[in-house]
Amino acid sequence: MKNLFKFAFCLILYASCFSPNISLAQDVFYLTADRLFDGEKMWTGKAVLVKGNKIMAIVEKSSPIPSGAKVLDFKNATLLPGLIEGHAHLFLYPYNITDWDTQVLKETDALRTIRASVHAKNTLMAGFTSVRDLGTEGAGYADVSLKKAILDKIIEGPRMMVAGRAIVSTGSYGPKGYDNDQKIMLGAEPADGNELVRVVRDQIWQGADFIKIYADYRWGLMGEDRPTFTLDELKLINEVTTSSGRVMVCHAKSKEAIRRSVLAGAVTIEHGDFLDEEIGKLMKEHQVIFMPTIAAVDKITQYRGWKKSIDPDPENVVRKKLSFKAALASGVTIGMGGDVGVFPHGDNVMEMELMAEYGMPNLDILKAATSVNARAMNWQDKLGHIKEGFLADLVVVKGNPLENISQIREVKFVMKDGVIYK
Ligand SMILES: [Zn+2]
Repeated sequence: MKNLFKFAFCLILYASCFSPNISLAQDVFYLTADRLFDGEKMWTGKAVLVKGNKIMAIVEKSSPIPSGAKVLDFKNATLLPGLIEGHAHLFLYPYNITDWDTQVLKETDALRTIRASVHAKNTLMAGFTSVRDLGTEGAGYADVSLKKAILDKIIEGPRMMVAGRAIVSTGSYGPKGYDNDQKIMLGAEPADGNELVRVVRDQIWQGADFIKIYADYRWGLMGEDRPTFTLDELKLINEVTTSSGRVMVCHAKSKEAIRRSVLAGAVTIEHGDFLDEEIGKLMKEHQVIFMPTIAAVDKITQYRGWKKSIDPDPENVVRKKLSFKAALASGVTIGMGGDVGVFPHGDNVMEMELMAEYGMPNLDILKAATSVNARAMNWQDKLGHIKEGFLADLVVVKGNPLENISQIREVKFVMKDGVIYK
């Protein structure tokens, strides 16, 4: 028996001497392009060294290339950190193809998950290596499984941070307009008062990385956006959420819902259609990040028949422009989140183009989609920058996105976690 152990030990020792050592065999990449955006600034004359899944160093192009490094030199191109989508719904697809009610009520979770896996790949190929997903809208916790399938390399997709079901107050959320004698499945989980404690904890148990709240919804007497939860309810949700090390993020369009969300401790405000300078300043004071979702409004209005740049702007588009202008004037930090799903996954750049159209400088838009969104996801120490020791999420686009933000559409190269996908 003793000899058998000795034999086995020698065998392991022998095998370990001759099996390839992963750390020695790791390729070193030397990546360079005409320009490098590091998450804050645009540089020229720089190159990046990548080993394994980490950025080793940023070096001057004039310094010698390490021997054995694989050189990737992109001409007429810009190297950027992997882009981050701040507001996605991978389980939804454009409402002009299938309306939201039908997707939620008639499509099975299995079908929706298969679609979501295609959406995930399209997102990654568009240069978005990370995504914050704001709720499956009726597909339960399928997002938790989608995230795992990507992590386990079963399918290709972005790094995900997921909300799961999200929370709504009783009576506020859809699908609506059905006979209430029958129980209709909702696009999110209803809860109120002290029950919120259990629901938040249950969502955490099911795999939610953060808690998404609908702090207002179109349930006013005239169908207008009105607050759903009281300030105390929001504070309770936030207390339970943050004590688990997670954060609360709030869908809020009306000023009052934004105010309550900010005072209760939300880290991001989604939509903010009625945001004005005063409420923007309150958000700034509390270091809350604003996710404008301009593209969702722009596209939904077009689905309803608005002919952009032919017809005059309808009221909701005028309001979106005004609120974005107010946000810029207030100095609140603005992230990049388009509510993609309302428009096609992989077309995430549409939000960046609209941010430019609505008056944001291109450099700030690039920051929003990288370093700011990394902060919104509490990933600022590992993503959103090209920096030594950070995860090797890198993309290359043709041309210069500082001159024209639409260059982000021309993706030539995608690396996530040190693996080349494009
Ligand atoms: Zn959304």
